[in-house]
Amino acid sequence: MRIPLMKNLSGRGQKSGRGSRPAEGKEVMDCATFTACIPAFLEDSLDDDMLDAFLAHRRSCSACAEELSIRVLIDRGLAKLDTGENFHLRNELNGIEKKAREAKAHRAFLSKTAYLLEAAAITAAVIVILRYLTI
Ligand SMILES: [Zn+2]
Repeated sequence: MRIPLMKNLSGRGQKSGRGSRPAEGKEVMDCATFTACIPAFLEDSLDDDMLDAFLAHRRSCSACAEELSIRVLIDRGLAKLDTGENFHLRNELNGIEKKAREAKAHRAFLSKTAYLLEAAAITAAVIVILRYLTI
């Protein structure tokens, strides 16, 4: 899911804003974007860049961290209230973040594996062509 509210302060495509910019390529999320991204975070559907920006904002902004806690409490806590399961907000938040990080690592692994398979396929094709040419 791509939410177009994201502000890119890295300078790409911007003529102003020089000075106290974050590192090149790093995206900075504002509070409104963070709030808009909460449902996607809970559904584990933020892309890697958005997930990094989301988690960074959560660490740096206590108001948004609290907003996320409330949303998790409503989203997950009330559901468990119905079933009578135990609910620990801190554990739930940590579990959601851990799951998101694992999904990101899995995507990176798949991307790397796809690259290696492609390289292997090209190597195999070159070997077949060379054998064909030398016969
Ligand atoms: Zn914030």
